[in-house]
Amino acid sequence: MFDVAIIGAGPAGLSAGLYAARAKLSTIIIEKMYPGGQAAMTYRIENYPGFSDGIGGAELAEAMKSQAERFGAKILNNGAVKIVKEDNIFNIILDDDNVEAKTVILAAGASAKKLGVKGEIEFTGRGVSYCATCDGAFYANKTVAVVGGGDTAIEEALFLTRFASKVYVIHRRNQLRATKILQERAFQNSKISFIWDSVVDEIRGKDTVNELVVKNVKTGELESISVDGIFVAIGQTPLTDFVKDIISLDNQGYIITNEHMMTNVPGIFAAGDIRQKPLRQVITAASDGAVAAVEAGRFIESMQ
Ligand code: NAP
Repeated sequence: MFDVAIIGAGPAGLSAGLYAARAKLSTIIIEKMYPGGQAAMTYRIENYPGFSDGIGGAELAEAMKSQAERFGAKILNNGAVKIVKEDNIFNIILDDDNVEAKTVILAAGASAKKLGVKGEIEFTGRGVSYCATCDGAFYANKTVAVVGGGDTAIEEALFLTRFASKVYVIHRRNQLRATKILQERAFQNSKISFIWDSVVDEIRGKDTVNELVVKNVKTGELESISVDGIFVAIGQTPLTDFVKDIISLDNQGYIITNEHMMTNVPGIFAAGDIRQKPLRQVITAASDGAVAAVEAGRFIESMQ
């Protein structure tokens, strides 16, 4: 049995792991994929303090993982399916294992939202991608489109200009949501063209994507554009399905916590992108993780 079981090894989970293990609490971090979460897929992180020239997402994630492990946090590669409370112990049912713990920190983050249009599922991995850092290099001297107007979409578009000869940004409004510094960089980049007030209606291709049908939401007009790939960056869906029966969520599925990261279930905390919050960044995820771990320690003390 562990003092603290953390579900998710992104910046929130790894920071929680660091704080819990360093406080001499026996700590396990359960991760389905790879440590670092979405941050590990980010080419360069420029807004995490301490790295004046920025740092690669994968490099930052690896450093966070090593730091948590150095203090004794264990990382287990497995997926959480369900949490069952038995007396004062939480039994976390995993894909092919189970873990018992006195407290749980939910830090599973969020995953990329799907467009839900014809061709999207069919061409995923064959021209449809949700991660420019992962797949951008396949598009050297090609034409790609990015869908979305937030920070992720604009960062992805800028990143893709390293490889592609042309990058369309397709946005459903005529104004970006992304921070001004990213907007300025995108507007100044001659490889990026904006298609405003438009949504993707259909993704077409043969073996791989070669065409998008784009609809202007103001005029209803349909236009076909030739592309070799499409990167979808229209926001996130919190990974809360496995706790939705026991934890209070908001109407978008994010976990509701107080500022101590406590959920509605005493002993279960949440940290990072998985919870309802005003700013989802590596720095706020790390902060949430630290608070959740300290509160988990206090909870254990209060039970003794
Ligand atoms: P986001 O901020 O929610 O932006 C999603 C974008 O996709 C919006 O422009 C939205 O349009 C558009 N969109 C949503 N649903 C759509 C649909 N069905 N069809 C077409 N377009 C759709 O998501 P995000 O960019 O992934 O960012 C998530 C969070 O991470 C944000 O808090 C962001 O600040 C943060 N983040 C920060 C950084 C950084 O600081 N460097 C980098 C990446 C992400 P509307 O604008 O019309 O709503």
